[in-house]
Amino acid sequence: MLSSIYNPSSPFVLGILGGGQLAKMTSLAAYRMGLQVAVIENGEGSPAGMMTKHEFPGGWADRKQLDAFIDVSDMVTLENEFVDPDVLDYIAERRFVYPSPATMRLVQDKLIQKETFSKINIPTPQFAAIAQKSDLLSFGKAHGYPFVAKTRRLGYDGYGNSTVKQESDIDFTWRRFMESENPRPLLAESFVTFSKELAVVVARNKRGDVAVYPCVQTIQQGHICVSVLAPAPIDEQLRKRAQEISVACVEAIEGIGVFGIEMFLTVDNEIVFNEIAPRTHNSGHYTIEACHVSQFENHIRAVTNMPLGSTSMRVPAACMINLLGERTGNGIPDSVAGLLSVSDVALHLYGKKDVRLGRKMGHLTATAETTDAAFSKANSALDKFIW
Ligand code: ADP
Repeated sequence: MLSSIYNPSSPFVLGILGGGQLAKMTSLAAYRMGLQVAVIENGEGSPAGMMTKHEFPGGWADRKQLDAFIDVSDMVTLENEFVDPDVLDYIAERRFVYPSPATMRLVQDKLIQKETFSKINIPTPQFAAIAQKSDLLSFGKAHGYPFVAKTRRLGYDGYGNSTVKQESDIDFTWRRFMESENPRPLLAESFVTFSKELAVVVARNKRGDVAVYPCVQTIQQGHICVSVLAPAPIDEQLRKRAQEISVACVEAIEGIGVFGIEMFLTVDNEIVFNEIAPRTHNSGHYTIEACHVSQFENHIRAVTNMPLGSTSMRVPAACMINLLGERTGNGIPDSVAGLLSVSDVALHLYGKKDVRLGRKMGHLTATAETTDAAFSKANSALDKFIW
């Protein structure tokens, strides 16, 4: 399929649904590999849209823009899981789309994810569909408090989650999600007492070849990932188990492309599945500097059915820290000089026009001999960064 990429008269154009930082970093890898990129997104000048002449700022809800985007693209992939599968079906009538609409239907709903994976004996929290308010009560009775209520779809950075600490929280939770203008169907899951959160990125191509990245630790604050330690500072056996679970999940959904699998390490040293993202993942940004082939390049290799690249680390350890907005207004930071003065630290700024509190504006990756050293180097660079 990719035989045309080295033919300058007919460049291969990878279409990406979405123009945020994941599309931008995928584009950077694509350009290095000799591909071109088309981006469809709502609004001009998105991080990836600004990089290409094939920018479709009308978004995929605009059929004319979508058709023009399909025309120019040789194949299509995506950078977020919120694309309507009917749109993917529409594209799939004319172009290969990976991950496939069938895979997307399995992962867009957190309840279906858990049903799919528990069927193949992947450990998950206890979970149940919530059809009416009394189901929340029954869940609390069966599994105890606290438990977590989650919107089945469209949750990100914890925005669709609510911890139900006691029976009296049920009314509020139900009203918050179900009695709003747009009711959002829920699932409930037992609260996992974890010692660490882990993640693994897996790439899989159409031939079924799989490449699995090291297991990392993700550190969240207020349900948003703030930093990542690679490799996760846990026993090698546990890291292997997390990798096995992650590969099994991607194979179960016949995933093609790169997938990020989030898991809990419980206080009893069990690994429990949390969720899967059908795209390149924040926990894999460190792979750009720290692995032989980054998650972004492997995503391109996977969706174009090319041989996958080595996922092994080329440094002993790395720490990634997200640069989250600390104010509102213009997205250009005041000074990056301090951060750049720290050696072995790479800065990525996504070029978003506006900053908001908590918005992911960029990240930095520090590499070092140990995860502790990488963590302190990354934090000392962060301290020098001025918004
Ligand atoms: P999102 O899709 O919004 O990122 P997640 O389901 O991954 O939401 O939840 C975000 C964070 O909330 C997790 O990283 C974890 O810290 C916490 N969390 C989610 N589910 C549970 C659970 N069942 N038990 C304990 N903590 C949880």
